[in-house]
Amino acid sequence: MSISVLERPESPSIWVAADAVDQARPRSRQSQLGASDLVCERRGAYIYHGWERTDRVVSPAAMLGTYIHEGLTEAARREFGWLVEKRVADAVIRGSIDVVQLDQATARQLPRRLRPTVAADVNTVEDIKTRSSRRWDEVLRYGATAAELRQVMTYARLLNTVGFADVHGQRVLARLGPIHVERIRLRFINRDSGEEFVQEFPYDPEIAEEAVWWLERIAETTHPEQAPRTFYGPQIDAVCDYCPFATACWGASAGGRPVQANIVRDDTDVAAHLADYVAAHAQWSEADRAKKFVRKSVDAVPEGRYGRNHLGWQGADQEQVEPDMRAMIEIFDSLDAPIPTVPDSGRMVKALVVAGIAVPMRRVTKKSSRRIDVRAVRE
Ligand code: SF4
Repeated sequence: MSISVLERPESPSIWVAADAVDQARPRSRQSQLGASDLVCERRGAYIYHGWERTDRVVSPAAMLGTYIHEGLTEAARREFGWLVEKRVADAVIRGSIDVVQLDQATARQLPRRLRPTVAADVNTVEDIKTRSSRRWDEVLRYGATAAELRQVMTYARLLNTVGFADVHGQRVLARLGPIHVERIRLRFINRDSGEEFVQEFPYDPEIAEEAVWWLERIAETTHPEQAPRTFYGPQIDAVCDYCPFATACWGASAGGRPVQANIVRDDTDVAAHLADYVAAHAQWSEADRAKKFVRKSVDAVPEGRYGRNHLGWQGADQEQVEPDMRAMIEIFDSLDAPIPTVPDSGRMVKALVVAGIAVPMRRVTKKSSRRIDVRAVRE
């Protein structure tokens, strides 16, 4: 029995509906720069200059993240009385903060219904992030990325300087004026297992200022192409695979070549890229030597936890199952079934050569991946 995976009109992919709902969200149509756009300078510049999106992005993983996000923040609002999804903005940037947990002194200035069940010891801004298991190790090891820090520090800066935005649904909060935020919390949720990892640290005005400087650089451009690309493009960095400006940024693929080929226009560009390649290769070889050294050094060490890392071994003495040729021949014999034979071209060539007969040849094109070979040349 085979299971058809063809889409039938009566049972379309549910992601079609999810995508339609996602596209209709206010944030999908906004053109003002948002704190969550502080990930790539070039992308920020497209938004800042009001460019139309060139790519329609459908990311079930991102939509799952949104659903998890909405469910968790709503639960936190109901059970803990935290302020969730609250808007902040100044003249340049806007944002929606996942969670604000007020301290007692600030909460007392609000109507009872807006006070937290348990007040925080200091005003805290929280951002919730979801990650797949594939990137979970990175979360435990390094915590928030630089872009995530810029985003959450920007929220805190906006609260510190302006307070909550004076918009429908949060006017009472806006009346509080600037809120003195002291703590930042990043809450990571593993999308596959539900595991939770919380990172807390004090508000860092330097990172917030760095984000302001980042925005100023974008504002100084008169065209998006003046802003540098922060990433290496589709099929290298996932953020570009799901970027709504990917085609504007890299152009369309020509003749099946990667889109990155579009930005190399002359020999000067080639020389600059090869210099980057050589520099990256030098770093890679040094890192590879260090890894090989460690691999050999711990060869006798059993699996287990050592300091902040867990050592495991994969691939050694693994028992595998493969077809038993002798047993199969016996079964074929007993069934009187013909045993398939494959012509042995090596033996046939040898026999023709020994008999003095020319070996017939034909032209074939073998597909293999092209490999780059970069060598030094004398000046
Ligand atoms: S495609 Fe990548 S480098 Fe280009 S704007 Fe988007 S995120 Fe930035």
